[in-house]
Amino acid sequence: MSASLTRLQVFHFRHRLDRPIPTTMGLMTGRPALLLRIEDAEGASGWGEVWCNFPPDGDLHRARLAANVLPAALTGLTGNLDKKPFEVVQTRLHRLAIQAGEPGPVAQLAAGVDIALHDLAARRADVPLAVLLGGQARHVPAYASGISPAVFQDQFARMRSLGYRRFKQRIGFGPDDGLGEVETAASGLAPYEKLMVDANQAWDLPTALQRAERLAPLGVGWLEEPLPADAPDADWHALAKATDIPLAGGENLRGDDAFYAAIDLGALSVLQPDICKWGGLSGCFAVASRARERGLIYCPHFLGGGVGLMASAHMLSAVGGPGLLEVDSSENPLLDLFSGRGLSLSDGLFPLIGGPGLGYDPDISAAADMLVSEQELRLEA
Ligand SMILES: [Mg+2]
Repeated sequence: MSASLTRLQVFHFRHRLDRPIPTTMGLMTGRPALLLRIEDAEGASGWGEVWCNFPPDGDLHRARLAANVLPAALTGLTGNLDKKPFEVVQTRLHRLAIQAGEPGPVAQLAAGVDIALHDLAARRADVPLAVLLGGQARHVPAYASGISPAVFQDQFARMRSLGYRRFKQRIGFGPDDGLGEVETAASGLAPYEKLMVDANQAWDLPTALQRAERLAPLGVGWLEEPLPADAPDADWHALAKATDIPLAGGENLRGDDAFYAAIDLGALSVLQPDICKWGGLSGCFAVASRARERGLIYCPHFLGGGVGLMASAHMLSAVGGPGLLEVDSSENPLLDLFSGRGLSLSDGLFPLIGGPGLGYDPDISAAADMLVSEQELRLEA
């Protein structure tokens, strides 16, 4: 039996960056985190996180949207997962998403709810989140991502000191598209280290072909989003055929159909759905399982605060395979603070925290100086 949901809390945090982070979409001036806490009538609770990195100030919009529309969308729900929470919430907000022209933000809210209700259900069942998902709770392999061309040496040093041996560097903007810095970083790798690169949709096909040729001798582990996520299938095919570098993508796909089409297309070797951006745990588990069946590697995409990171770690643990957890190495105290354990590896792996659900409650009070808003909403049975 499950008790009805009684309370939703929406916590919006933002860390202001003194030194903005350049990306292919412009400067990131802050690091937001939007957390949901949902409680039921018997006092059980769960935590979720909503993707809100772009556009600038998009986190403010999503925090208000969550408080405005989620109470009605959660009416009558329980921690019973017979119905996938992501689908229920997205269906209830379907007309609004169309009318507002905002299917993305609505999917992101539904994803956050899905994670929170899985965490709540796992705590009620007294099992780790990974076990509730049908897998094992194990420590997972991880890589350090978000390495910027401007400060890559510092980021490599910090993440190496935390135990990381696999890294992902941003390319696709600035002088020479950052390829010179990638060549320098690659030449400085130890034999047991690996470098991946992320172009964040920067190029058209001719440019991607040319850049891939230059990257080929560096032995990079994968090339992520060399083309816009909605580039024609023929372009993805042409690039995959022309290069031996494995192609990665998925953070900008939305919907079962889009993911299954990308899997069937055969151009991607690494699939990267983001549990906070679309699908939550229920939607992404199905997609990740299909990807594995078809021989792709599942690597959770993640960019946000520590709750989404730890939920992604449980997801990877449950899905299994050789995939890596994405751990952002650019400046973001909200990632570290809300992870419950910090970002360091242990014997080369990212440890889960033992215990039911996520295994911990994020320390909200520790981030009081970054709190933008906190809203508490009553839910109807
Ligand atoms: Mg990426």
